[in-house]
Amino acid sequence: MSGTPEVAVVGAGPAGLFAAERLAAAGAKVTVFDHMASPARKLLLAGRGGLNLTHSEPREAFLSRYGELPPQLRAALDAFPPSALRNWAEGLGQQTFVGSSGRVFPVAFKASPLVRAWLGRLSGLGVTLAMRHRLVRFTSDGALELSGPEGPRQISADAILLALGGASWPRMGSDGGWVTLLRDKGVAIADLRPANMGIEIGWTEAFRERFAGQPLKQLALRAGDKSSRGEAMITAHGLEGGAVYALSATIREVLAAAGTAVLHLDLRPDSTVASLRARLERARAKDSLSAVLKKQLSLSPQAIGLLREASGGEVPREAAALAALVKAVPLAVTGVRPLERAISTAGGIRFDEVQAGFELRKLPGVFVAGEMLDWEAPTGGYLLQAAFASAEAAAQGMARRLGVALKPLPGQPW
Ligand SMILES: Cc1cc2nc3c(=O)[nH]c(=O)nc-3n(C[C@H](O)[C@H](O)[C@H](O)COP(=O)(O)OP(=O)(O)OC[C@H]3O[C@@H](n4cnc5c(N)ncnc54)[C@H](O)[C@@H]3O)c2cc1C
Repeated sequence: MSGTPEVAVVGAGPAGLFAAERLAAAGAKVTVFDHMASPARKLLLAGRGGLNLTHSEPREAFLSRYGELPPQLRAALDAFPPSALRNWAEGLGQQTFVGSSGRVFPVAFKASPLVRAWLGRLSGLGVTLAMRHRLVRFTSDGALELSGPEGPRQISADAILLALGGASWPRMGSDGGWVTLLRDKGVAIADLRPANMGIEIGWTEAFRERFAGQPLKQLALRAGDKSSRGEAMITAHGLEGGAVYALSATIREVLAAAGTAVLHLDLRPDSTVASLRARLERARAKDSLSAVLKKQLSLSPQAIGLLREASGGEVPREAAALAALVKAVPLAVTGVRPLERAISTAGGIRFDEVQAGFELRKLPGVFVAGEMLDWEAPTGGYLLQAAFASAEAAAQGMARRLGVALKPLPGQPW
């Protein structure tokens, strides 16, 4: 290739911006297009929850979070492990720390300082950000058509990266509009589905009115053969929160296969049924049920409300039956929250469409990265780690096509 190679990146989320940085640092002329008015909106939103960048657990445990991990993504994660992401963030002046759960966060506990420093670095590398440009079509000669403030614009480049995200929180920019564009080109795409989403439960009006917005703390949850621990938030629709998201993929699949699903909540996960029973047996007979549950088991009003809700108001008074109920409150799940309310997206471009270097088999010269690929993981930093790792793999693939060499990344093995 003669002259400075030109790269077009569509999608200014973490995947697109990271590949842009890597290629610009290698000497390519990079333009990043995005249809929003400003870049990295979803990353900034993720920052509101502290920005869980990655996770510190060992390699095997980490990789197991992606379920059936496609070999291309496994190789990408091995080549760009959590230490590489932490090094990168620290290179932007954002020290990271491991929280008590093993999750990794920037010390600032938000995304804005990182994004500010990152955009400064990109500008220094000569990366052009072309905002308010929406990808609307692939032309027959392999160019992209974008609609921008000055009307339609055709873009051709020596290499193109699509990093268009999933379709959760569409107000942040990723709306899944690309699915039709790529399907029209014959690229196989697994239907986009919600991941890490809340679940729907048909609360009674009385329960919803009294308890929506209140947390259930120190829970263990079980759905099928999967379990999780943590907190859940009661909402008007059902339940949200980390412990629920951890089971949401299982619940989604059970619902799809069987039409119904049951979630069991253990309201006292650190006690056995026998110890709860012994405590309940010590209760004074004249105390009301609520008083017994509060005094003997320290249950919150919302947990007590949940026991009533799950048993149709017929909470057993007998100690053994009551202890058993507290350890496994059955909730009938009627559905999962829709994609636009989910944290992330399952489904996407199937990995058999992607060759080494994350290049599309059916569209040579077009590379893909990030959440638009068909992988799924729970919250815990696995989403951003895979977005960055796949972007690095795509940048490597693009660099090979362009005949440029990416700078080695400082990083330790897992
Ligand atoms: C509330 C919330 C909290 C989260 N917290 C965390 C967390 O703590 N840790 C974690 O690991 N992950 C978290 N995530 C997930 C994480 O933010 C995403 O996985 C990540 O942003 C995906 O990066 P991406 O670059 O693939 O896509 P995106 O960040 O979605 O970026 C895609 C970009 O493409 C643009 N685009 C889409 N279509 C077009 C088009 N047709 N033309 C032009 N531009 C287009 C969009 O505007 C967008 O800027 C969170 C997500 C949400 C919603």
